[in-house]
Amino acid sequence: MCYKYSMSNITNIFNNAVDKILPIGGVVRNFKYAVVFKTTHWCWYNCPHCCENAGAHRPREFMPEGVIKYYIDQVANDPLFCQDFVLTGGEIMASYKFGPENYVPNIMRHAIESGAGVDIKTNGAWVRTPLKKQIIKDFKDIARQYPAHISKYQISLSVDTYHPNAIENNHEIIRELAKCKNGRILVHLSGFNDQTDVMQGFLAKLANDSRLNLVPAMIARQNGNGIPVIAVNDGAVLLRPSADAQLFDGGRAANLPNARHIRHPQFSFMMNDGTILVAFDTMGFVTLGENSGRKIHTTWRNPDGTPRPFVDIKRDLIKSARYEEIRQRMIDTKRIFIK
Ligand code: SF4
Repeated sequence: MCYKYSMSNITNIFNNAVDKILPIGGVVRNFKYAVVFKTTHWCWYNCPHCCENAGAHRPREFMPEGVIKYYIDQVANDPLFCQDFVLTGGEIMASYKFGPENYVPNIMRHAIESGAGVDIKTNGAWVRTPLKKQIIKDFKDIARQYPAHISKYQISLSVDTYHPNAIENNHEIIRELAKCKNGRILVHLSGFNDQTDVMQGFLAKLANDSRLNLVPAMIARQNGNGIPVIAVNDGAVLLRPSADAQLFDGGRAANLPNARHIRHPQFSFMMNDGTILVAFDTMGFVTLGENSGRKIHTTWRNPDGTPRPFVDIKRDLIKSARYEEIRQRMIDTKRIFIK
């Protein structure tokens, strides 16, 4: 006991000393984080702005359900985990086509039951396929099963000109979800900050649909803060539009002239609210933040394929962040010297 205590003191003294020279390690160690599961790189689409280089040419592989549940359990009680899980891809709904059975509902239920919030991102391409019936049913079943989690589980749809058929697909999804009886489904509509007109046009299209009745409303988060929403059909669906996303030049978006260039992309891993994104992917990596530039990352897989404990992953991410900071300082020093 005494030995452990003194070892942890020595570790703290060492970390604090190194943080004075390389502060980025302390940022990674001490800040709150959200966990993202990039469950696959396969996707129906091949969007020009895709920072994941996803598409139908990528392997039809999914992060194993057991691995995702393992990390949900590992972080659920960590005081630094900000209680937000993001389920994304590629297109996670492709699991209904060639992934494990019940992959999405099983993972969503496990995450919701951990007490955290769940944000599932989808491009909606499935709404034009025979998968639509089952996916809509699963969303409605989950909404009915977890009524207390109305502000903790949301579906995110992209409203922009990059995703093919985004307006038509999202319209159809909202129409279907709005038929939900005895359940409420929170839908985040996400748009880019230079396409606010696209969002306005989409909301106007919904408002003009005689089958949908839209009224402004407010829902409370568990922390007591209110979220302004648009209630559709007596609150069967609650829409939360935002058009503040920025396009940055990662993945295929590097080819777009309006994509924002980030000078040190590897350090832009913090969100506006001061949390860090920790993203697991199907290739076996855990990466901090956006998928561009040199990565601050490590692996979640042991050589035998089993998942590594999260505490070891975090230690490696801190090391990787410190290494990148040293490297970046050397590059900056060289630039100054050459000038
Ligand atoms: S941006 Fe989304 S929808 Fe488009 S290719 Fe990438 S994962 Fe698929």
